[in-house]
Amino acid sequence: MRKHHFNSLVFNALCSQCETDSVIIHQRMIDLPEVGKTLRINSYCENCHVNSSEFVPFHDKKNSVFKFLINDKLDLNAKVIKSQDCTFRIPELGVELEPGPESQAEIINVEGVLSNITLALDYEYGSNKLSNDIARIRKGKKKVTLVLDDPMGVSRVIPRKS
Ligand SMILES: [Zn+2]
Repeated sequence: MRKHHFNSLVFNALCSQCETDSVIIHQRMIDLPEVGKTLRINSYCENCHVNSSEFVPFHDKKNSVFKFLINDKLDLNAKVIKSQDCTFRIPELGVELEPGPESQAEIINVEGVLSNITLALDYEYGSNKLSNDIARIRKGKKKVTLVLDDPMGVSRVIPRKS
């Protein structure tokens, strides 16, 4: 089925995984704060259920490094725009979370990023001192810097309005 509505386009495509004509691509123009006009592309294969989501900004792609200080619990609610290619770092802990093949473009919050980092660390090392440190950050008891390194130049934290 094809649908067209304002500002949004849906079409079918071939799946690179299962090679059937079962992928539904949904493109939508969105306006990201501080980034501007960006194409959001969601693809979903109805046959093998592979899905992906990406941001394609209209500005020239240029690597951006964005730093956000997590001071207290309220900062955990700050909105995070994350492209599919974003690497997260917490220099104070020596932690780095690189984008895997499953990495998706999404809008989450700082808490969600910390949760993803915890999951990745637990998966790789089991529960350890680093996950304890991150648990303290998530309780607002440890101040650290969250660094977003993005070759797409999209990823950033939008601080809460005071
Ligand atoms: Zn497929």
